[in-house]
Amino acid sequence: MDFAYTPEQEALRRDVRAFIEHNVTPAVLADDNIKVAAEDGEMRPTGRTGPLMKELYRRIGERGWLGIAYPKEYGGQGGDQLSQFIVEEEFMRAGVSIDLGGSGAPAILAAGTEEQKQYFIPRLINREVSFCLGFSEPHAGADLANLRCRAVPTADGYVINGQKIYTTAAHWATHIYLMARTDPSAPKHDGISIFLIPMDTPGITVRPLWTIQNSPGAPHGTTYGEARTNETFFDDLRVPKTALLGEENKGWGIGAAALNLDRVGAWRYLMSIRRDEDIVNWLKENRHGPEALANNAAIRDKVAELWTEAQVCRLMTMRSMSIVQRGGKFTYEGSAEKVWAPEHGVKTTEAITQMLGPYAQLLSTSPHAIEEGVFAHNVMGAFQSGVNHGSVQIMRDQIARRGLNLPSSRKSRKPQ
Ligand SMILES: Cc1cc2nc3c(=O)[nH]c(=O)nc-3n(C[C@H](O)[C@H](O)[C@H](O)COP(=O)(O)OP(=O)(O)OC[C@H]3O[C@@H](n4cnc5c(N)ncnc54)[C@H](O)[C@@H]3O)c2cc1C
Repeated sequence: MDFAYTPEQEALRRDVRAFIEHNVTPAVLADDNIKVAAEDGEMRPTGRTGPLMKELYRRIGERGWLGIAYPKEYGGQGGDQLSQFIVEEEFMRAGVSIDLGGSGAPAILAAGTEEQKQYFIPRLINREVSFCLGFSEPHAGADLANLRCRAVPTADGYVINGQKIYTTAAHWATHIYLMARTDPSAPKHDGISIFLIPMDTPGITVRPLWTIQNSPGAPHGTTYGEARTNETFFDDLRVPKTALLGEENKGWGIGAAALNLDRVGAWRYLMSIRRDEDIVNWLKENRHGPEALANNAAIRDKVAELWTEAQVCRLMTMRSMSIVQRGGKFTYEGSAEKVWAPEHGVKTTEAITQMLGPYAQLLSTSPHAIEEGVFAHNVMGAFQSGVNHGSVQIMRDQIARRGLNLPSSRKSRKPQ
């Protein structure tokens, strides 16, 4: 088995790096996720990009590096998963997000009508359209199939009433990818449908839900450093039939398959292993003097151990991508990756604060914080990764059922 990149892939990486060196300047980066003064006077990110960033995306698109693995007829390049991974990895390291992780694009491609694919996929690729994910509710988190948000069919569409929680990005996304119950008499995993709805449709109210990173704000480069997620309310929200994704009442299957696909890619991988790179770089840059941590045997041992575990994340990511490339179906593989990688990320962030000592626990506003407090903010952020996008406990249950063929622990669930 050969895990090395081909000469063409290495050349692509060099090309991307050269492009980044010339085009991704601090001014361009500052033009992303622009901050505005909120009600309390603090500057808060809006998720919007300015003209410099938009111009950068245009140039990246010109090079054929947006949506590489997506079909040409929908604005992609018809290329392979690994090339897409390489390009996304390089841009992410430079602080520019060009990936479609969590975008809903795989679900639309798999289950959308031709019209939906033609409309959404090219716009998602060039970032004209962005989705927030409306799955979780106050009574339906890990047990998502308990969701109560109700979509009642009418002659020309649906009327939706209910509430979502933790709708990250709902305050700036153009659309919501909404899961709602269309048949309350069906078993709870059935009777659920997915809708693609513009956020400016009357009947949607978004309220902020501030996170642990709210104050003081997390520095650039923090994993899960978002200050805000949201509660989203739907009051007699009227949507046309064309907003439905896939068949009515078949949303559970579409959502589950798409979530697996959304977990594959450079963003998920880097989110879990960036901390390993950060600490190695920090040790290399601070290696002078007899007391330098880089010379400490226990620290070298720990860093080597973490690095080895990070390579397992890489192999799991590569396996997931190869499944997608072959058009195969995930059974337990995506779940296994979603357990190993976030738990590794949590372990690394904790180990780093132990290695660097008490100063690494100071947050961004402290003048004594190391690297503007990024290590401390990473500790607070890392725990979220074990809960969101499918918690590690639920993922373990999926591995037990689908990977090991153990019986389902849920009595109401049909055997799979
Ligand atoms: C920062 C952040 C961003 C998020 N963004 C979004 C978003 O954009 N869109 C969206 O829809 N949701 C989002 N979520 C919600 C996320 O998907 C839920 O938090 C998650 O599904 C868990 O639900 P819960 O918080 O209600 O916890 P609960 O469901 O109450 O679970 C609490 C804990 O108990 C465990 N648990 C629950 N049931 C079982 C069981 N049967 N067996 C074993 N363990 C169990 C869970 O694994 C978890 O660790 C976000 C969450 C966070 C923290």
